[in-house]
Amino acid sequence: MIYHPEQYAIKDERMKPFIDCEEIHSFLKNAKPSKERIREIIAKSHAKNRLSLEETACLLNTEDADLIEEIKQGAKSLKEEVYGERIVLFAPLYIGNLCTNDCQYCGFRVTNKKQKRTTLDTEQIRNEVKALQDTGHKRLILVYGDHPKYTPEFIADSVREVYKVKSGKGEIRRVNINAAPLSIEGFKTVKASGIGTYQIFQETYHPETYSKVHLTGRKSDFENRLTALDRAQEAGIDDVGIGVLFGLYDWKYEVLALVRHVNHFEAAYNVGPHTISFPRIQNASELNIENKYFVSDADFIKLVAILRLSVPYTGMILTAREPAAIRDEIMSFGVSQIDGGTNIQPEGYSSKGRDNQDLDSEQFEIMDTRSLAQIINELIENDYLPSFCTACYRLGRTGEHFMEFSVPGFIKRFCGPNAMLTLAEYLEDYASPEVKEKGYKSIYKKIENGIIANKEAVLERLDKIKNGERDLYF
Ligand code: SF4
Ligand code: SF4
Repeated sequence: MIYHPEQYAIKDERMKPFIDCEEIHSFLKNAKPSKERIREIIAKSHAKNRLSLEETACLLNTEDADLIEEIKQGAKSLKEEVYGERIVLFAPLYIGNLCTNDCQYCGFRVTNKKQKRTTLDTEQIRNEVKALQDTGHKRLILVYGDHPKYTPEFIADSVREVYKVKSGKGEIRRVNINAAPLSIEGFKTVKASGIGTYQIFQETYHPETYSKVHLTGRKSDFENRLTALDRAQEAGIDDVGIGVLFGLYDWKYEVLALVRHVNHFEAAYNVGPHTISFPRIQNASELNIENKYFVSDADFIKLVAILRLSVPYTGMILTAREPAAIRDEIMSFGVSQIDGGTNIQPEGYSSKGRDNQDLDSEQFEIMDTRSLAQIINELIENDYLPSFCTACYRLGRTGEHFMEFSVPGFIKRFCGPNAMLTLAEYLEDYASPEVKEKGYKSIYKKIENGIIANKEAVLERLDKIKNGERDLYF
């Protein structure tokens, strides 16, 4: 993997704001895509080079239907080459929805008096995690509102609690966090609890729009949020997740700003973000956003393909905010992680069940209500490899170390084999007999087709899993 910090290596400083609206707008104004140029850019991405802002702007300005199709196909083949057929699965677990901010797109905002406020206690956390483990989950992202109650110590304690829960053969092996920005000391406290990724979305990188939709509270400080993941890096959290809430401002500007954020990390920390997320606004209790910048399905697919090409090495997360049909379609253009069996109501996994969606107790509306079992079944039928792999973070392959690996080799050496091993665990412990049969058939077919490098070692470990061993990885 070659990546180029470009000119930002000279001008970017750690923990200093880096977004220049005029610069981003001028790239968008001046980028002139020709057929030859677009093909050159796709080829550069296929050589595993992160694209520059100018190159990304060219892709964004492409309006010719045939060329857009080439961009989508380019993203599809890059995804297959870099990520193979594996799709990593996780679930969000909302720990508490107290919040002092007033984000106009969020059901949890402080001015929404209809919202039922809850913070899970230790017993409730255990019940939720147990329920998630009993469906087969191994990776969670814990979500917290922004409130004085959710101190770094509180977050760290809840992470430790999650790791302690063991139900049957189940366990959570990686806990990621989505919470408010912290100080460097705060991030250190949370890191010490053994988290994987710390995820903070800028929501919009356009300062004026940012001020319009974040009315009060700490989150109204654009620059504090923009530099939050720098502080995480300074605290030693080198797996960080960035994201935009599409629908607040011009989607082309936001895609370019995400790439600028990537540049900033590369320039300042010699590491890219671990994941990029691209939620679109969904209905929420007391939603107060005009629809001027809402993103159509066609543009959404295009932007996912462009992000895939622009940052070939970074994981891309598509959540259950999107309906099942869109998720299925977009997955092939670059997505490497999805959530499954998602329920974002307090105690939603352990007691309520998913038929009782109640907008006044959740952050936004969930559109894909399939269970984890259904999603796994469908992934297998569509020739994907569902994965619960957590190997890299547990073996210290994070941050700069992660970047050192050659990503295409990663698939054959690590991701593919680990997907097979974790899927086999799922098939043994949680799947119906039909899915078990289908799943093993798919695994052995893929092994025969040569998608992994270490066939003998994988076959040996698959046998061990069938004989009751667990948690084997490369
Ligand atoms: Fe609070 Fe986050 Fe919702 Fe804003 S988006 S109101 S910070 S929970
Ligand atoms: Fe992710 Fe690493 Fe597992 Fe691949 S091997 S799925 S990059 S944790």
